[in-house]
Amino acid sequence: MRIGIGYDSHRFDASRPLVLGGITIPGSPGLMGHSDADAIAHALTDAILGAAALGDIGRHFPDSDPAWAGADSVVLLRAAHTLVRRNGWTLNQADVTVIAEAPKLAPHVDAMRARLAEALEVGQGAVSIKAKTNEGMGFIGRGEGVAVMAVVTLTAV
Ligand code: MG
Repeated sequence: MRIGIGYDSHRFDASRPLVLGGITIPGSPGLMGHSDADAIAHALTDAILGAAALGDIGRHFPDSDPAWAGADSVVLLRAAHTLVRRNGWTLNQADVTVIAEAPKLAPHVDAMRARLAEALEVGQGAVSIKAKTNEGMGFIGRGEGVAVMAVVTLTAV
């Protein structure tokens, strides 16, 4: 068995749609980034790559590459998982914490879990997403951006 950890943060950008966990959430500023800036998909990608000691998202999908401009980050997540599988490991389960002062993410969590579980070819029960605020503290508390932490376990194929 392997354990991987991932972290990501993105600044809000009101000119873009908000995409988190592969779901577009209406009525909130989006996130700045080269791809769709889906911080949940990015943290999960880093966790999966990290568990297999295969580097990180920036190594495999550099933000200098025009191919990833505006990319659906769930596609990157799926590609990372394919790479990990070729190296002898497959996702067992994932647990994610999203830290954002707004918007309220709870109504969207099950849709995110369904999209991510489908992309990772596991049951929805293997993908946990939890959302919390930062109690008004720091850059998250000031509403400047969001942060995501992800932990995964992999088992041998
Ligand atoms: Mg990112």
